[in-house]
Amino acid sequence: MSHETLDAGAVQLPAEAIDAIERAATSAHRAAHPHEALFSERAANIKQSAVRDVFDISMRPGLVSLAGGSPYLQSLPLERLAAAAASIIANEGLTALQYGGGQGTEELRTQICEVMAAEGILDAVPQNVVITAGSQSAQDVATKVFCNPGDVVLVENPTYVGALNTFEAYQVEVATVEMDDDGLVPELLEARIAALQTAGKNIKFLYTIPNFNNPSGITLAGERRQRVVDICRNANILVLEDNPYGLLRYKGTPLEPLRAANPADVIYMGSFSKIFAPGLRIGWALVPEHLQRRYYLASESVTLCPPTLNQMLVSAYLSDYDWKGQIETYRGLYAERCTAMLAALDEYMPAGTSWTSPEGGFFVWVTLPAGVDTYPLLQKAIEAGVVFIPGAAFTPSDSPSNKLRLAFSAVPPDAIKEGVRRLAPVLREALAA
Ligand code: PMP
Repeated sequence: MSHETLDAGAVQLPAEAIDAIERAATSAHRAAHPHEALFSERAANIKQSAVRDVFDISMRPGLVSLAGGSPYLQSLPLERLAAAAASIIANEGLTALQYGGGQGTEELRTQICEVMAAEGILDAVPQNVVITAGSQSAQDVATKVFCNPGDVVLVENPTYVGALNTFEAYQVEVATVEMDDDGLVPELLEARIAALQTAGKNIKFLYTIPNFNNPSGITLAGERRQRVVDICRNANILVLEDNPYGLLRYKGTPLEPLRAANPADVIYMGSFSKIFAPGLRIGWALVPEHLQRRYYLASESVTLCPPTLNQMLVSAYLSDYDWKGQIETYRGLYAERCTAMLAALDEYMPAGTSWTSPEGGFFVWVTLPAGVDTYPLLQKAIEAGVVFIPGAAFTPSDSPSNKLRLAFSAVPPDAIKEGVRRLAPVLREALAA
């Protein structure tokens, strides 16, 4: 968003925007067509994503969106990518436009092993990798192959809304484990597992985002990492490690992924969405050998094969372009935006609020005093010209939350400051009420 747009004067509240939020908040707008009776029970559990609704609204001119966590793509070498895409189609078009292997191309799986080596996973080999339509699809496949309706998955509280939607669509029970400033608390994880297993529940996996959790920005401390895996291993529970932001660390020391020292216990999911381009929908799972056959078959049954042209374009990017240098550029850019966000929060936020200070990734998590529900504040924030995501979106129950997520990835520093300045009076009023 340019400075000009920001200064464009009073913000008009788009009536459709409010309608969309209200529609998302209620299921009362159902059409009464007889076909409705044909839906599966599963379909009733597929929720409209609050993030997507707000994402659409936040495209309106005049609004500062601190809602959507889109990566900032302007620094990508578009002309070189255009030439690479043209060359692939001109020279290898019949392969690029054809079906490919269900696991993805060998070339890209080999390169993905190099990307994971940059994260500290040194033993990955191409046959242990399956390429998926974003890591979203890797989560879906994992849930499909491990979970029956009524099974339990453990998640951090809060956690990624897209994963919650997947789990709920498969009629899985989602059990939360609290985090502190150092991430998931091992003792609480252990106690939760014991209580659930004593109650006869079938826990299949822990879904965790150890680096710069979406939405909280919190990182699981190094000294807790092995303990978390050990607790799960002892209870025969898999770990699903989701790490799309790991390479986007701009402060502190890089930490080994959970998968690095635990190849048999962790399914690791990665993605090119945050380090390259989300529109290509290329992610992957690194799967322990004993789980591969069914995992790969299930992945194939969803998409037949990952998109061939897009895989070839990612391969060309990784082999012909300085992708590590590009990640450095991203780190610098997101560090600057994170600093702008934290400075604006310091300057404008009312007493009684607090927020996280991420070492990487895209998000800051703001906490209001207990008892304040941030959901109704969204409408007021839109009226004030700023959009955020209410905390309730990141919990399985959608129960009232005194938290909210602010994303700084896609917004220039001056607009971040302006957005926080607009948000402050909305929160101040809520705190005074
Ligand atoms: N996991 C997390 C934690 C995310 O934040 C996102 C995207 N916002 C995804 C997975 C999905 O990423 P992809 O584009 O690879 O499907």
